[in-house]
Amino acid sequence: MPSPFSAAGSNPLPLSALNDFLFCPRRAGLKFIEGLRGENEHTVIGDLAHENVDFPGYEQRAGWTLLRALPLFSDKLGLSGKADLIEVHLDESQMANLKSEIRPVVREARPVEYKKGPKRRFDNDEVQLCAQALCLEEMFGITVPAGAIFYAQSERRAEVIFDEALRQLTLSAISNLKSLISNAAIPAAELKPQCEGCSLHEVCLPELARSASAWRAAETRLFTPVD
Ligand code: SF4
Repeated sequence: MPSPFSAAGSNPLPLSALNDFLFCPRRAGLKFIEGLRGENEHTVIGDLAHENVDFPGYEQRAGWTLLRALPLFSDKLGLSGKADLIEVHLDESQMANLKSEIRPVVREARPVEYKKGPKRRFDNDEVQLCAQALCLEEMFGITVPAGAIFYAQSERRAEVIFDEALRQLTLSAISNLKSLISNAAIPAAELKPQCEGCSLHEVCLPELARSASAWRAAETRLFTPVD
């Protein structure tokens, strides 16, 4: 069955797929071509960290309006998803639009992502956040220069600047992820440091790939005639 995200499919790619893709392209392939899902301690704790931001709603704090679980999309980039939190500056006159179907006029916005613990070596949260910013720019016709990542364990908030380098990295990840999915070509397993924390480890079995390749190398050495 073709992936619902393939070139033939009409579904936009989830924003979270970018994080998976940069963590490991095989992981993105297994999830978004094969439809596999996996849970481990990291995913469960991550879900708990999102508990308070997964319900849509808004509040006002320090002059900002905080929009929780706002749906995001980009027709241009073929992306969709949901933001943990978007902090926006609205005109007073736009407050009524938050309760209606009318999209409010947003003057300024910054996306905020919640993460379960301290920053991990292979997470690519900045790219996922930058992709959210690209969606906001298209949705509201504004420039989004910065966002933030909130680390639940340390209760630390780190600012992320959407500079040219991060924007290019994000656009290139989107383009490479789309080719991977439209070609339905899942890369081979390869044992690497990321595998240790990967929730798909048990179905991917990268150790077997390493053993098979070691066996092939040994076989070649054993059966290659010597002069
Ligand atoms: S176990 Fe390793 S190779 Fe397999 S999907 Fe996860 S990170 Fe990628």
